[in-house]
Amino acid sequence: MTKDQQLRYSRHMIMPEVGAEGQERLNKARVLCIGAGGLGSPAALYLAAAGIGKLGLVDFDDVDLSNLQRQILHGTKDVGRKKLDSARDRLRDVNPTIEIQLHEARFTSANAREIVSAYDVVVDGSDNFPTRYLSNDVCVFANKPNVYGSVFRFDGQTTVFAPHLGGPCYRCLFPEPPPPGSVPNCAQAGVLGVLPGIVGTIQANEAIKLILGVGEPLIGRLLYFDALKMKFREFNLRRDPQCPVCGDSPTITKPIDYEQFCGVAMDELPTVSVSELKQKLESKESFQLVDVREPMEYEIANIDGAKLIPLGELPDRMSELDRERLTIVHCHSGQRSAQAVKMMREAGFTNVFNLDGGIARWSDEVE
Ligand SMILES: [Zn+2]
Repeated sequence: MTKDQQLRYSRHMIMPEVGAEGQERLNKARVLCIGAGGLGSPAALYLAAAGIGKLGLVDFDDVDLSNLQRQILHGTKDVGRKKLDSARDRLRDVNPTIEIQLHEARFTSANAREIVSAYDVVVDGSDNFPTRYLSNDVCVFANKPNVYGSVFRFDGQTTVFAPHLGGPCYRCLFPEPPPPGSVPNCAQAGVLGVLPGIVGTIQANEAIKLILGVGEPLIGRLLYFDALKMKFREFNLRRDPQCPVCGDSPTITKPIDYEQFCGVAMDELPTVSVSELKQKLESKESFQLVDVREPMEYEIANIDGAKLIPLGELPDRMSELDRERLTIVHCHSGQRSAQAVKMMREAGFTNVFNLDGGIARWSDEVE
């Protein structure tokens, strides 16, 4: 270690739990951050500062102005740049002595195993189910700990999935992803900006503990954080012997690409406007109107004549609909119904449209 490095890490090395030996371990460690967004930002910043020898980042996105409320790796001058470029510049400034490896790609079944193989610990900062399941599965296959974090509005969750060290994996808790569109994403639900800061920092903390081999890792424990009540709660998690990936007789043995849940390109789908819908209803035109929200939402408000088929039930209930007939699908704001339209087109519906803006726009502009 150079004199500069000794100074840089002196607050670590002075602690007997770390010492020069622990710092050497950190300097030799290889950590992969999946995502350079809300969780990845604080995680990568602290991991770089701690001197993680090789820090990998997977991301393919550009910095958007709406990211800056929480993604503290990026600044206003970075809007429009690749997140990886902006992250690299910031992390190099924090610690120029570490290696920063950029993986500019979507994390998919095609590259996941290879990317993960070059690291000791994975910090999953992804915000979507396909990536979360993929990083879980690939870490189980490779016997690497997967430091998990997720945020939603004011609530955060974090744990360490490491079946090879005794705990469960993500699939022990949730064997399969929820049906597409049934869970809102960040953009739809919102998130308090500081929340990923807290959760991502805990993820960095757990990664560092795993590398040092000190303390009690969050293996088999889920830490749940409520920012409004300012309360941490802890739940014990157990490995499920029936788990499809880490169980005693696994059925999933290679990486799977689930469909992008929130990634339907809305502009590629045929849509109708609320005023067009109003016209069709008034002229008593023959068509089927399908509401894919949940029963509770339907009870609060619905459009006259709409047939309720919650999105999660749609695959099993398509036979209730006429595939040839003009069909208009709506939900609250148009996201879930976009998923529905996509599914229905794939199932052979030839004349199906998404209601632009959903019932929310309908109530604003029509009723
Ligand atoms: Zn499992």
